[in-house]
Amino acid sequence: MPLSLYNTLGREMQIFQPIQSGKVGFYGCGPTVYNYAHIGNLRAYVTHDILVRALRRLGYQVTHVMNITDVGHLSGDDDTGEDKMVKSAEERGKTVLEIAAFYTDAFFRDTERLNIIRPTVVCKATEHIQDMIALIQRIEARGYTYRAGGNLYFDITKFPTYGELARLKLEDLKAGARIDVDENKRNPHDFALWFTKSKFENQALTWDSPWGRGYPGWHIECSAMSMKYLGEQFDIHAGGIDHIPIHHTNEIAQSEAATGKKWVNYWVHNEFLVLDKGKMSKSSGKFLTLQSLVDAGYDPLDYRYFLLGGHYRSQLQFSFEALEGARSARRALMDRLYYLAGKCTSLPDPWAGNPGDKGLSDKGQTYHEAFNRAIEEDLSTPRALAELWGLIRDTEIEAARALAIAFDMDQVLGLRLREQLSEPRAEQKLDPAFVKEIEALIAERNAAKKAKNYQRADEIRNMLRDKNIILEDSPQGTSWRLLV
Ligand code: AMP
Ligand code: ZN
Repeated sequence: MPLSLYNTLGREMQIFQPIQSGKVGFYGCGPTVYNYAHIGNLRAYVTHDILVRALRRLGYQVTHVMNITDVGHLSGDDDTGEDKMVKSAEERGKTVLEIAAFYTDAFFRDTERLNIIRPTVVCKATEHIQDMIALIQRIEARGYTYRAGGNLYFDITKFPTYGELARLKLEDLKAGARIDVDENKRNPHDFALWFTKSKFENQALTWDSPWGRGYPGWHIECSAMSMKYLGEQFDIHAGGIDHIPIHHTNEIAQSEAATGKKWVNYWVHNEFLVLDKGKMSKSSGKFLTLQSLVDAGYDPLDYRYFLLGGHYRSQLQFSFEALEGARSARRALMDRLYYLAGKCTSLPDPWAGNPGDKGLSDKGQTYHEAFNRAIEEDLSTPRALAELWGLIRDTEIEAARALAIAFDMDQVLGLRLREQLSEPRAEQKLDPAFVKEIEALIAERNAAKKAKNYQRADEIRNMLRDKNIILEDSPQGTSWRLLV
């Protein structure tokens, strides 16, 4: 079965067909590195990762490009507000480049912990200013720009299909005035390609350009860097849904104005992760980071598992109760896999069968095919997870076969199933004397409970909790786990 993707451009499911047979050019908008990524941002990167993994498993050679925004992004995507990087640097008493380096490292530490495969090309905006200038010159030469107040703007009325991605109507846009509009703009939806007259007295980084010394508008970096690494036309572009009306709309306008050709064929947008209390905002400083989940005792893969439980095009509500549910489910999954691994002499390799292979017709194959269908129908990870569960719970499937298929499925899910089975469990790495102490305390707690001394029983539970040991009572007795 071919891969179907929901294309925001056209708002419909479409069968994916690459420009060049067997190859995929994919660009996903990367982070603005003025602060830690919040767990909502990380949802976008897990979505990109699932897409890339699914394409590679289907046999495509994928070039994945991600930008790092270290200049030019104002707090409003429509050129309003303050410069995010400069503001952060001032608040922290550092230079913009120090801030960028610090949060870029933090970003990749997070993505690594989430088992997100590093993009083929990671490109920083500040290292591609000349590419941006060259692209802006092409846009200018084709008559799409005007100068005002020292800045260079893109004139959206010159681009008749402006707003097609977001289904915006040019007539409505002309009429719609907004507050805080840059008075140099002829139309409030025009956007800056190059700023020379900075609104900010102490703009940290500026470059010489044909329009004067200044710095680029935010959108141009994605057009310039994607074309540099993927060519003037490429297959897929992704980002969060917030980017549809402004950032991606403007990226399309300026790219197609420069080349006169269609730029990107498929637009993939992930819905937002929301908190029970509402929107999460990186600029307000009030948000959850991956580290805050780790500090609360969760494994980053619990969060990945939680994300896989929702379809990328549905809004997902985050709560610690829901994350707790994902942790228990992931643990139960690993327990079942350890059980299956115990029945094998060695861990099998991922089943190398062609995803569409009809050669082996056993029950394992049925789950495998259903899993592939789920992924190929617009990356349905919730359905894919259900197939993984069906497979490993099915007692009619031989352990080694079930594991081999599960490991193959994990090439898309990215839950590190095989790697974890080959590592000793966290509990096994503890000092044996400490394990003895835990077991003695559990025995004492059981005796206390028998004697109805619940106060002592609770004391012991809390004492162990302080040492990161969690007790779980069940009809079979009390088991313990290390909180990792
Ligand atoms: P930024 O670093 O602010 O440019 O955002 C990085 C990525 O995260 C972009 O693709 C955004 O669209 C996406 N994003 C921002 N907030 C959320 C959220 N709450 N849930 C999912 N994706 C988000
Ligand atoms: Zn972008």
